[in-house]
Amino acid sequence: MVAATPQMGGQPILILPEGTLRQIGKDAQHNNIAAAKAVAEAIRTTLGPMGMDKMLVDSIGDIVITNDGATILDEMEIEHPAAKMLVEVAKTQEEEVGDGTTTAVVLAGELLKNAEKLLDQNIHPTVITKGFKLAKEEALKFLKQIAKKISPEDEEILKKIAITAITGKSAEKASEHLAEIAVKAVKSIIEEVDGKIKIDTDNIQIVKKQGGSISDTELIKGIIVDKEVVHSGMPKVVKDAKIALIDSPLEIKETETDAEIRITSPDQLQAFIEQEEKMLKEMVEKIAKTGANVVFCQKGIDDIAQHYLAKHGILAARRVKKSDMEKLAKATGARIVTNIKDLTEKDLGYAKIVEEKKIAGESMIFVRECKDPKAVSILIRGGTEHVVEEVERALEDAIGGVASALEDGYVVAGGGAPEEAVANHLRNFAQKFSGREQLAIQAFADAMEIIPRTLAENAGLDPIDIIAELRAAHEKGKHTYGVNVFTGKVVDMWEQGVIEPLKIKTQAIKSASEAAEMILRIDDVIAASKVESKDKDTGGSEGFED
Ligand code: ADP
Ligand code: MG
Repeated sequence: MVAATPQMGGQPILILPEGTLRQIGKDAQHNNIAAAKAVAEAIRTTLGPMGMDKMLVDSIGDIVITNDGATILDEMEIEHPAAKMLVEVAKTQEEEVGDGTTTAVVLAGELLKNAEKLLDQNIHPTVITKGFKLAKEEALKFLKQIAKKISPEDEEILKKIAITAITGKSAEKASEHLAEIAVKAVKSIIEEVDGKIKIDTDNIQIVKKQGGSISDTELIKGIIVDKEVVHSGMPKVVKDAKIALIDSPLEIKETETDAEIRITSPDQLQAFIEQEEKMLKEMVEKIAKTGANVVFCQKGIDDIAQHYLAKHGILAARRVKKSDMEKLAKATGARIVTNIKDLTEKDLGYAKIVEEKKIAGESMIFVRECKDPKAVSILIRGGTEHVVEEVERALEDAIGGVASALEDGYVVAGGGAPEEAVANHLRNFAQKFSGREQLAIQAFADAMEIIPRTLAENAGLDPIDIIAELRAAHEKGKHTYGVNVFTGKVVDMWEQGVIEPLKIKTQAIKSASEAAEMILRIDDVIAASKVESKDKDTGGSEGFED
């Protein structure tokens, strides 16, 4: 019997629906690798402090100017399936560490580029992926060995981590100021679980308001509530605030059943209104009796209740977002109460100042100077919308960096130093293997050098000279030597204060190598023909929300 072929008596056998696109073997591999390389190439020029920015214009003409890898890839609306896998690498990096997205994607692209050379030498993808796996494991082990331990007390190092994350972004001019904010913010929300440091960066609220300058960006030891004080008779500032968080309406509920109340005389109507008023008054009195002088209500507050609250000198805001209520609880130590009857003094939170302030023409309530707040807020200011957004991205990178350094407890020098150290180590490690596996491990080692090489290239330096100098330093065991992109010298990056969390590097290596392995293992791409989008006439979901 002959092996199955697509031809049988001249008649092709169709096993796939018409319109399906199929690529097999080397074609599929080369095509996938080309797509992945293209993605890496697209963001390579943004790497490092001297990296360029990209201006992205979307289909409705909105522009974003950034050099943040994850943002660029997100805006690019990439279609090719293999290219999308690199976008996933960036997303994983963003979620796991919050910084190092460009590094991860560039690394993945280079791993594939080097793997392609091996494929061309007829080395089987399985051998390559095996070598990559070995190299990855060894790289991770080695990095941990050369990393340094840190704790929350190492404030100077933490600040350097934040500055390293911000350097090269347009927010750089204020990097000292922003770094300080990032470190303070992260340090204040540290929680210890079973002796381990846990940091949930969601507890750092970020509020952006265009206007002012970047240096007006401030850390608030508390929360900003984007609401106005509800009644003009209420104070706009309360010192030594005792704060009640109420998740229940300060209103009289409409009767829920279809009960009808018949009023036959004006007296009765008057009595009815008075009754309602009395109930609202009692509600407010109950709150006032606890000593509360600030009320944040997740639901509505009736006009009459507002009036009585004002009379008691209580500052109140209504329809506060649930997420803000939760942050307020964390920041002030208050307990959210769902039934006003249950409210006691113990449920109240504390802040030294609660005040309404106008920022860029909009009133917001600042809950400031909380005692040991477990949620804090950063108010970002900047001349234009684009500046404010780039500051936000810079701060997110800085916060992510500081947080992951503290959670993980280890840091390394930056500027291409750890990547070159790994490259050097892996070249020696490769000697233990023979033949094709050795080639794959070497290919992995060479790929690591794309980071210092790109840093040099983006700074307009000669990459060949720089890499030669770097290799020489690392062969002498100088693990922290990297590229000072500002002076063009190969120097000790630790001494330069260029410091990054270990996790940026390990996560980048892990996800880059896993994505490369996955792409290499594909030898058949079967793509169904595109179904014409039908939801054009259903109009999507637009316009249905109020
Ligand atoms: P990513 O998205 O990967 O974080 P960045 O554009 O933020 O990309 O660049 C990060 C790289 O820049 C890292 O390798 C880091 O060590 C390097 N870097 C940051 N600051 C400096 C500096 N002052 N000198 C040299 N390299 C630096
Ligand atoms: Mg970065």
